[in-house]
Amino acid sequence: MAEIAYRLEQKRRILGAFPGPKSAALNERRKSVVAGGVASSVPVYVADADGGIITDVDGNSFIDLGSGIAVTTVGASDANVVEAVQEQVAHFTHTCFMVTPYEGYVEVAEELAKLTPGDHEKRSVLFNSGAEAVENAIKVARLATGRDAVVAFDHAYHGRTNLTMALTAKAMPYKTNFGPFAPEIYRVPMSYPYREEAEIKGEDAARRAITMIEKQIGAESVAAILIEPIQGEGGFIVPAEGFLPTLVAWAKEKGIVFIADEVQSGFCRTGAWFASEHEGIVPDIITMAKGIGGGLPLSAITGRADLLDAVHPGGLGGTYGGNPVACAASLAAIKTMKDHNLVGRAQHIEKVVTERVTALAGELGAAGIIGEFRGRGAMLAIELVKPGTGNTTKEPNAEAAKAIAAACLAAGVVILTCGTYGNVIRLLPPLVIGDDLLNDGLDVLVDAIRAAA
Ligand SMILES: *Cc1c(COP(=O)(O)O)cnc(C)c1O
Repeated sequence: MAEIAYRLEQKRRILGAFPGPKSAALNERRKSVVAGGVASSVPVYVADADGGIITDVDGNSFIDLGSGIAVTTVGASDANVVEAVQEQVAHFTHTCFMVTPYEGYVEVAEELAKLTPGDHEKRSVLFNSGAEAVENAIKVARLATGRDAVVAFDHAYHGRTNLTMALTAKAMPYKTNFGPFAPEIYRVPMSYPYREEAEIKGEDAARRAITMIEKQIGAESVAAILIEPIQGEGGFIVPAEGFLPTLVAWAKEKGIVFIADEVQSGFCRTGAWFASEHEGIVPDIITMAKGIGGGLPLSAITGRADLLDAVHPGGLGGTYGGNPVACAASLAAIKTMKDHNLVGRAQHIEKVVTERVTALAGELGAAGIIGEFRGRGAMLAIELVKPGTGNTTKEPNAEAAKAIAAACLAAGVVILTCGTYGNVIRLLPPLVIGDDLLNDGLDVLVDAIRAAA
């Protein structure tokens, strides 16, 4: 395995109180021109980013444990990506694949056919964003089945367009006052082991959802079941073992298209190319974005050839979908993932983080605020509860999550929160982060959790 070479010094450095003067000035400029509905969790402006480091315009260096929400898996300026983008951009930036096609698009589709689960005949379509991929997966499922209903789950996140808002579970901030929403979307219970009222096996949790579908919709009306194999924004929820395979088997029996939304969990993030692999499931269609493009906007759906090819010519597409520069970046990012065995790196990161967090949870004990540590690979989360409620009411502790993220930031570590109750600290480091930097970031996190406890 090749050594990872960094361009920026991989070291945390906070010069003083921040935002510094340059970031503060940019925050002021922003207020008069950027819409208030767009929020940024970190009040500093980026100057450079590489490996596990983000530097700001005032000269501070932050450890990146968020990857721009699971996007910069290969780092934010991976050498392969930079070179491929520069080469492509010098030739053509756009022609529109629907007008005059180009090889990069075909090559990405070839990679996706090889990398996604299952050895069946596959077809792909490329788009720009995760939401667009989800929208198109549902278009395909509806057309191919001739049915309308789509089943989504509690705690789901699928995007912010009209259809994907309807599919997303959480009202605030994603849906409140943005309706009316797209019809024929139904929501059923997820398997959320930590918050089940009584322990329930994965198969039984799936049965619970299936019964609701059968009673409230009728299997013969369902076009698709859409699910994140590990839920992202909802709180990095890993369903109980057996939940997903049971749903997949039932969907198959009923002619329902099973769509795995791997926009966040895909591309090495969970210690496998796709999270579906951990449960041995083969989705009919898989949606991808975030990690796919090395930071450039690209998304895709890959699925059974008979489903995708059922659509009439011209039925799928978009002006920018599969932009040549984004395709070049994606091919380069995939190369980096293979060259540096980032699947293995994600597994290694899981080991390092698990050791630290379980030790801390043991130290804080049952009266502590760590309710559950969970996740796979480098998609890991700490669900926080009010002190001492971890074995009883499990009262969500969003205040602690906020305080911990703020304390980390003040010390120079960018950490994201998530969860239906806003009480989950999520770790999504770039997979190219070095062990020293990762451990330094974890030192800061551990101290912040201790202080909040
Ligand atoms: C981020 C995300 C989306 C939406 O992707 P965008 O590129 O923001 O539109 C959809 N599904 C999942 C699981 C996501 O994490």
